[in-house]
Amino acid sequence: MQDLFTEDEQMLQESVRRFMRAEVEPLVPQMQAEGEPPRSLLKRMGDLGFLGTCFDGAYGGSGASLATQAIVSEETARVDAGFDLVLFADIMLFARAIAKHGTEAQKQKYLVPVLSGDRIGAMGITEPGGGSDALGIVTRGRQENGGWLVKGAKTFVTNAPTADFFLIIARTSDEESRIDGGTWFILDRGMEGLATGKPFNKMGMRSSPTGEIFLEDVRVGEEQVLGQVGRGFHMLMDSLDVERVMVGASTIGIAQACLDEAAAYAQERRVFGKAIREYQLIQEKIANMATGIEMSRTMLYRLLRAVERGEKVTREAAILKYYSSRMLTEVSAETVQIWGGAGQLEDNKTARLYRDGKHHEIGAGTNEIMKVLIAKETFKEMGYGRK
Ligand SMILES: Cc1cc2nc3c(=O)[nH]c(=O)nc-3n(C[C@H](O)[C@H](O)[C@H](O)COP(=O)(O)OP(=O)(O)OC[C@H]3O[C@@H](n4cnc5c(N)ncnc54)[C@H](O)[C@@H]3O)c2cc1C
Repeated sequence: MQDLFTEDEQMLQESVRRFMRAEVEPLVPQMQAEGEPPRSLLKRMGDLGFLGTCFDGAYGGSGASLATQAIVSEETARVDAGFDLVLFADIMLFARAIAKHGTEAQKQKYLVPVLSGDRIGAMGITEPGGGSDALGIVTRGRQENGGWLVKGAKTFVTNAPTADFFLIIARTSDEESRIDGGTWFILDRGMEGLATGKPFNKMGMRSSPTGEIFLEDVRVGEEQVLGQVGRGFHMLMDSLDVERVMVGASTIGIAQACLDEAAAYAQERRVFGKAIREYQLIQEKIANMATGIEMSRTMLYRLLRAVERGEKVTREAAILKYYSSRMLTEVSAETVQIWGGAGQLEDNKTARLYRDGKHHEIGAGTNEIMKVLIAKETFKEMGYGRK
């Protein structure tokens, strides 16, 4: 499938793959046990230019295609999906928003240290009252003495327990249309009134710390507002398509790791006197896995090129997220099945892949929400108005 990539992208893929095998794979047991990657690993990736491949060179990026970020994500998730989730929140959610909407001062203060791997960012939308209804948030920002007071709580935020910087959305006015009246605030750890909770004990994605952010009248100046006051939900909706496409990269990375494990075991394991890969029921599983992965990967890079050309991909991004995450849930279950009893052992990677894979049917918009969106956009595309 090398025709998907330019020569530079192929070279990046090879060097990231080598780096992951040599420097990240040995750290996986430590990251799983500690629930977070070592800071030195982010710094190392920053030094190698792997964090900011698609960002502007003026802020420490390499100015390459968006597809390069997907290449890094796919290769990272193939080795440790939790670590990839840390990078997703840090780079695709936090850094990308600052790069797109930040002032020059905000980019210098927040984007540069994140792309160099010196600091970690997080983005909080989800609240204890729910995540699917993003416009239903109750965290409030109100103007006072030329600044803002932010009050509320966020939950299920990737990197919240460890992040240095937090990008959170609050409702700053009650408009008739719920999409209006949201505003983003950039907050620093250590600000008075800001606290984070303990990392959640999750079934998967254990290398990534997830938790709450508590905001008790956090006082910030106008310089902490990201983008236009009241336009926050519009900014959010504009960024969701790309984020969902990028979740596809992570999904495919985990599924590829499943296929790596499944094929190797099918080759090695002998039952009734021959390798299990010779049984057609096992071949069918491998065929289904390979088909799902290749269909998803082709769609992923096709969509990334469309995004690079500035095209709108709302419907297709939701299709990719829904299809590939479903595919991963099946692929990871079939991998455990091929491994038989050994697939049940925590010491084998298959168990981790099975636990990690489930996340992508939930995070960044659940599959139910993806299906609602796909149907809505399909009716729209076919010229049927709202009933
Ligand atoms: C490991 C992890 C990391 C995360 N990282 C972040 C992060 O960095 N930042 C952040 O802001 N959030 C993050 N999230 C939160 C995530 O985005 C939410 O969990 C997700 O959006 C779903 O929200 P919820 O959990 O509140 O489920 P709910 O919204 O309470 O939904 C519950 C169930 O109802 C279904 N449902 C809801 N509405 C409908 C409908 N209209 N039709 C049919 N079914 C419906 C849902 O699909 C789901 O099955 C993370 C979550 C996890 C698990």
